[in-house]
Formats: sequence, structure tokens, C-alpha cells
Amino acid sequence: MNILKKIRYSYTANQKHWVGDGFHVYGLLRPTADLNKFISPFVMLDYASPKEFSSTNLRRGVGEHPHRGIETVTLAYQGEVEHRDSSGGGGIIKSGDVQWMTAGSGLVHDEFHTVEFSKKGGIFEMVQLWINLPKKNKMTKPKYQEISNKDIPNISLGKNTELRVIAGVYEGQKGPSSTFTEINLYDIISKENKKISLKFRNGTNTLLLIMSGELEIENEIFKDKNILIFEREGNEVAFKVSNDFKGLILNGEPIEEPIVAHGPFVMNTKEEIYQAFSDYQNGKMGSL
Ligand code: MN
Repeated sequence: MNILKKIRYSYTANQKHWVGDGFHVYGLLRPTADLNKFISPFVMLDYASPKEFSSTNLRRGVGEHPHRGIETVTLAYQGEVEHRDSSGGGGIIKSGDVQWMTAGSGLVHDEFHTVEFSKKGGIFEMVQLWINLPKKNKMTKPKYQEISNKDIPNISLGKNTELRVIAGVYEGQKGPSSTFTEINLYDIISKENKKISLKFRNGTNTLLLIMSGELEIENEIFKDKNILIFEREGNEVAFKVSNDFKGLILNGEPIEEPIVAHGPFVMNTKEEIYQAFSDYQNGKMGSL
């Protein structure tokens, strides 16, 4: 039997803020005590909505900084990002590509617009998502997955509507990303007014980011830069999208463990956060 999931929270940010000088973002998801239960395993989501950058010879972005206890996932929609990390990972992601970085026990990295994009200038649009790691995997070895657009299954949901399986599975089609816990990550682009229904396992957490266009659910309209957070109960999310819609769907098995998040570290206890700062300051997370 299908039971529709209801919306628990909808949230939009009124203002963008800068992350370094390259990412002008709406901070749409943060690990607050109220939210954790309904967003876990997801911790944070920043949406850099489309923004024009002028041509420059400067490097725009975020310099060297550490992470521990999470995975950071960057989805490029427009523009290009270059990344280097202390575990030897690195590369360039372009429109449609995804960078899936497992910080695990800790690394330092930087994130910049590519030299080529900076010189040309143009529209830049990205999503950065932080995914929590369960206690048993928090100190896993850092790892980097560079996922190319061509390796992401692109499934037609009917005329002019496409769903990409970035992680997890959609009707038997598997996404390329390897994850530590059960996660489904899809994006949907529709150039048609369309009814969409997605099935998820009862008890899992489900979130929906509207990047552009509109979405209607239970006679309520939600606009872009909104994130919807659903109840755990239910196994179906059903909605209508406008003919200029772009959205990201996040679904995952909740990690039922305490969270202490501070800056770039997400651990289970305060002591582990102090340890992370100390390890970073003592160079144990490496350098670039
Ligand atoms: Mn980072």
C-alpha cells in the first residue's frame, strides 16, 4: 500500500552569504537539534543559485581547510570547480558532474573556480551537500569519487522530464556513487508541467530542494530556493512540477546517533570535536 509522506517543514533562506569569494549560497540545511531527526544522514546543504561572475585572473573560492566525520558532495550545474585534497584526491568538475569526497578521519582541501572558468567568466550554479558518517565509519580513510555526468543514469519520466540517479537506485537503475549508508540522490529537470511520484522505504528521511520553477504538493505551491523536509512515515512522495523545474531529491536511512557539529567537523561527542581541532592543528590531517 502506498502512503503519502507529508511535509514536516519547508524552509527558505532570504539572503545569500559568501563562502570564501567563489560561492554565493543560500544556506538551506543546518544540523539543528530540531531538524536532525528529519534530515539525517544529511547535515548541511548550501545552494549557490545561478550567479554571473566577471572574467578575472584571480582564484575565486575557498582556501585550505579541514573536514572530519562527513562526506562533502558537490554537484556542478553551471560553471567549473577545481579541488585538491591532502589524500591526493583532486580534479575538475564541470556542468553535470559530481564530486563525492569522503573526509573520514580527516583531510584538508581547497575548492576554487577553475582557471579556465575564471578567465572566461559566466554563470555559476552549484549545490554542496554534507552527508554524515555513522560512528563506525567516521575515522575511515579519506577517499575521493569523481563522478562524470556521462556515468550518471538519465531516466526519462515522460516527455521533457528527466531524472538522474546520482546515488542509490531508481526503479532498478543504480547510481554510480558509493555510499556508507543507504542513500538515494536524484535530480529532476522538467520542461513540461508534470505529475511525479517517487517511492521510498517507509521510515527513511526525504528532502526536496527546488532550484528553479515551482512545485505543487497537496494544493500548496512552493517556489525556488525552498527545501521541503518530509515526515519519516510513508513510502511515496507525489507532487506536480512546472515546465521550468529543476530540483534535487535526497533520501536516506537516518543515522540514529548523537551529532556534535562544529565548523568543518561533524562528530558524535564534544571530546571528538576537540580532538579534531587538535589533530588538524598538529598537522595530522595532512597538508596540500
Ligand atoms: Mn570543504
